[in-house]
Amino acid sequence: RQPFDVNAIRRDFPILSERVNGKPLVWFDNAATTQKPRAVIDRLGHFYEHENSNIHRAAHTLAARATDAYEAARKTVARFVNARSADEVVFVRGATEGINLVASTWGEQHVGAGDEIVVSHLEHHANIVPWQQLAARKGAQLRVIPVDDTGQVILSEAKKLIGPKTKLLAVTQVSNALGTVVPVQELVAIAQRQGVATLVDGAQSVSHLAVDVQAIGCDFFVFSGHKIFGPTGIGAVVGRKEVLDAIPPWQGGGNMIADVTFERTVFQPAPAKFEAGTGNIADAAGLGAALDYVSRIGLHAIARYEHDLLAYATEALRPVPGVRLVGTAADKASVLSFVLAGHETAAVGRALAEEGIAVRSGHHCAQPILRRFGLEATVRPSFAFYNSCDEIDHFIAVVRRLARA
Ligand code: PMP
Repeated sequence: RQPFDVNAIRRDFPILSERVNGKPLVWFDNAATTQKPRAVIDRLGHFYEHENSNIHRAAHTLAARATDAYEAARKTVARFVNARSADEVVFVRGATEGINLVASTWGEQHVGAGDEIVVSHLEHHANIVPWQQLAARKGAQLRVIPVDDTGQVILSEAKKLIGPKTKLLAVTQVSNALGTVVPVQELVAIAQRQGVATLVDGAQSVSHLAVDVQAIGCDFFVFSGHKIFGPTGIGAVVGRKEVLDAIPPWQGGGNMIADVTFERTVFQPAPAKFEAGTGNIADAAGLGAALDYVSRIGLHAIARYEHDLLAYATEALRPVPGVRLVGTAADKASVLSFVLAGHETAAVGRALAEEGIAVRSGHHCAQPILRRFGLEATVRPSFAFYNSCDEIDHFIAVVRRLARA
């Protein structure tokens, strides 16, 4: 096993040298968003200094450079998640927009009265609300796969729920609230045996484990660039080409058309058909740089390092008097979720912030799963490969001090 040089990696992220409240910044809010390496920051600068143009339309040098940058990023995304081709990658603002795109196109076409959409109890609001809205429009129903007391999806219950009425299974690969790694490949296989379409929410998985959409076998996979060290405002829907070709466009406008008259419009094939208007060109290039950066380190090395980091943090936090850990599945990534007896979660968050440690306290946009454990909020430190055991020691010391107070 190669030693993982976390200090060298930290030097790639300028913001990690920041001081807050007079203390070195400890960024434990990676499930909300990640920090950006110099390679991404420089890529954005390079785009605006040397390549900035709208794409596709104009035949001049900068248009060609901008188009190349945008389409190269699409290829990078395809390679990163092992899509069959770059034509399977639709750029969107992020996971939320991606799920809404699928609900408003595939969903409008395939879901009708009496049909069922199956999600898990772990879902982020982004993978609940669009399906609820679709169900309300269509007279369909949302069904929920329960989780066990460790916060893992119960596969035998999934088998019972997914049946002749089910049109779609939409599940997260990693829970943002608990860190549970969901066996999406098994779930997708269960759905496919019943002819059910599948969407996997990869918002929390792409930065922590190697994703292979062909191995998962899902019809749609969505993720956000900002959670994998890329810019905000860019993400992707990776969809099976034959599925993308068969569904209608979402928004209408420029860039997505082959021909327009006042009587009718002929659309471009996917993915252009789903990218109406001027896209987020610079940030797509930034996302490409982020994925290249992560690929250079390697997701297998990252996953191994983070596994050790999470185990170290879990073993240190568990024995602190008054700590209740929520989410104890055998397979977890990045996230610790806990409450401290006698202390409001917001107060714990503030005490940590005073020491320079950024964590999230609240419901993490996943209220149903917290309520499953009888809670409205938890404190959630979430790690990335630039975090260290020293930072965890610092965090544990603050929690221990609070626990004594
Ligand atoms: N799904 C999960 C599991 C998430 O953690 C998040 C972000 N917290 C989203 C979806 C939504 O991502 P975004 O806000 O970037 O669209």
